[in-house]
Amino acid sequence: MNTYKVAKIVGPGKVELEDWEKPVLRDDEILVKVIACAICTSDQGVFRGERESSYPVYAGHEISAVVQEVGPAVVSSVKPGDHVAVSRINRCEQCVNCRKYTDNRCLNSRKLHRPGRPAGPGGFAELMAVPGYQVFKFPREIDRITASLTEPVACCISSVDKANVQPGDDVLVVGAGVMGLIHTNLLTLKGTRVLVSEVAAERRRLAQDFGADVVLDPTGGALADQISQATGGKGVEAVFVTGGTPGLLADLMAVCATGATMVIYTSYHGEKGSKTEVDLNRIHYNEIKLVGTISPRKYDFQRAVALVANGRLRVSQLVEKVFPFSRIQDAFEYATRPGAYRVVVRME
Ligand SMILES: [Zn+2]
Ligand SMILES: [Zn+2]
Repeated sequence: MNTYKVAKIVGPGKVELEDWEKPVLRDDEILVKVIACAICTSDQGVFRGERESSYPVYAGHEISAVVQEVGPAVVSSVKPGDHVAVSRINRCEQCVNCRKYTDNRCLNSRKLHRPGRPAGPGGFAELMAVPGYQVFKFPREIDRITASLTEPVACCISSVDKANVQPGDDVLVVGAGVMGLIHTNLLTLKGTRVLVSEVAAERRRLAQDFGADVVLDPTGGALADQISQATGGKGVEAVFVTGGTPGLLADLMAVCATGATMVIYTSYHGEKGSKTEVDLNRIHYNEIKLVGTISPRKYDFQRAVALVANGRLRVSQLVEKVFPFSRIQDAFEYATRPGAYRVVVRME
């Protein structure tokens, strides 16, 4: 085939397919045939028109693929036919962030966009030509739809790392959507006791499947009291905020044990805004760390590939529905219903 299909979000509520010329591979690139790409919360935000973006947007960064062709200057050992996940973050390996273990924040990321390629991660496409370093091979054959969840797992690994949790810690995960459940799963593997706060009863049940030790209903009384009770008054050593309103932060700060870390995993959009008040003295006197997390580092991605491949995570349970590429508009509409888990677009 000399042309291939790429999807673009043309404006709020509308995604279209267009034909692109088959890319001419650069020496350092790998041509992959995309098997599946999951619709991330951020893609949903662009589709809903909630995120500031100039359309069209070539979205899609949760990618499971098979290698078709490998450029002569690619140094990794991937071969045509290998099953891979693709991390679409451009990393220059030369800026200060790339050199100090924070390559998720490469300062030259935008500059590294290659002309003649879709502007954006572009994972909703039949083919992609990507720099060799963005391709991560699975060590063994695994389910190719599930494999599209490698990127969100990598984001959550990065988040969990930030809190430096220890076996025996009590930790709180706020929200039991896709990201809350992956956090829960990872944190149980770390040997922590996991409390999950979630409004929806069905999601609380799912959190238990994913290993939550205690599930809390924030509508059933003050959350702070419930956490205090569940931890014998000590509070939690780490909080991972994957949902909720900004106003929740002050309450959560009140249930942090001394020296705890609070990780802001979610971003805030829409009318509730992203501002809130916190008590700085609580941070000062209790030595609480308030940190953000965004995108995976390459090492997070490497570990995610291993974890997804070795079956230690229940990620396949997070795939709610799979749509063929030709029905990508329906897939986005389905994915943006409230309460949806992951919707995956299958290319083949
Ligand atoms: Zn994502
Ligand atoms: Zn860089």
